[in-house]
Amino acid sequence: MKLLSKIPMTVLAALAATTVQAQDYPGGNPVVAVVPFAAGGPTDKVARDVTAIMSKHLKGQIVIENVGGAGGTIGAKKVAAARNDGHTVLIHHIGMSTAPALYRQLGFDPLKDFEMVGEIADVPMVLLGNKNLPPENFKELLPYIKANASKLFLANAGIGSASHLCGLLFMSAIGTQLGTVPYKGTAPALTDLIGGQVNLMCDQTTNVAGQLKAGVVKPYIAMQSSRIDAFKEIPAASEQGLPGIEVKIWHAMYAPKGTPPAVIEKLSAALQAAVQDPVFRAKMEELGAQAATADRAKPESLRKHLGNEIGKWTPIIRAAGVYAD
Ligand code: ASP
Repeated sequence: MKLLSKIPMTVLAALAATTVQAQDYPGGNPVVAVVPFAAGGPTDKVARDVTAIMSKHLKGQIVIENVGGAGGTIGAKKVAAARNDGHTVLIHHIGMSTAPALYRQLGFDPLKDFEMVGEIADVPMVLLGNKNLPPENFKELLPYIKANASKLFLANAGIGSASHLCGLLFMSAIGTQLGTVPYKGTAPALTDLIGGQVNLMCDQTTNVAGQLKAGVVKPYIAMQSSRIDAFKEIPAASEQGLPGIEVKIWHAMYAPKGTPPAVIEKLSAALQAAVQDPVFRAKMEELGAQAATADRAKPESLRKHLGNEIGKWTPIIRAAGVYAD
C-alpha cells in the first residue's frame, strides 16, 4: 500500500483502465487484421485461415483488411501508427525483415514500432510460367529465357515482397535480368500470369496450389534445395543446377507498439492454439506450407527471429545495392 500511495493517481487510473480493457478484450468490437497485400493472395490466405480459428479462442471477431502496395510497407506503416488497443494487428511475411534495408524512407521500425505476437507458418515458393510459355521444363526454360530476356516479364508484389526477393535470387542465379512488373499482391499478379500479360512469377504455394493442380500454370522449379512434400512432381532448384537457392517465406503477427501486455498475451495464446489446431495444420500442409510450432507462435520467439532475419538480409541487400526509394 505504501508503494501504491507514491504512485500518482493518473498512473493508477491508467493501469486500472488497461487491466479492465485487457480482461474484457476483445469485447464487442472486432479486431482488424491488416494484410499488407491484395485479397485472395498467399498472405491473405494464411491470415484468413489462422484468424478464423483465433476468433473462436478469443471469443471475438477478427476481420481482415487488405492494404496492399509497396511490397507490404504501406499496410505495415498503417498498423505501426494505429491505436494500440489490440483492435488492430498486422499479418505480414518475410518482407518485415527486408524492408529496413530496401526502403531508406520506411517510416517505421519493425523491431521498435511493434509488439510481437508470434509466428504463424512457413511457406515454400515455386517459379511458375504462363501455360502457353513454350518451355515444358526448367532445362528448356533456361535457354529460352536467355534468348528472349528482353521480351519476358516477371511479376511480383512490389519491392521487398517475397516474389520480388525470390525473383532477384533467381535472376542472379541464372545471370540474366528480366523486366519486372509490380502488383499489390500476387493474387492480381497470378490473374495476369494466367491471362498472359506477364510470363513468369515466383509465388508461395499457398497462392498457387489450386492452379497447379488444375494445370492452368506451368511450374518450373521449387525455389529450394529439396522437393516440396505436397508438390513432389516439381523439381527442386538444386536438382536443376541452381544449388544456392533456398527461399522460405515466414508469416507472423504483430500489434502496434504499446499494445497492453495482457492483450498481447491473449492474442498470442489464441495464435498458439490456432497453429496447433489440426484443421489449420492440415490446411497448411495441403498447400505445401507448415504451421509454426506453439513455441514459435510466441512473442519472444518472433522478436528473436525477426532480429535474426533483419541481420541476415540487411548485408545481402546492401551488397546488392538495391533500393526501393
Ligand atoms: N506473395 C506475395 C509476395 O510476393 C504477397 C501476397 O500477395 O500475399 O510477397
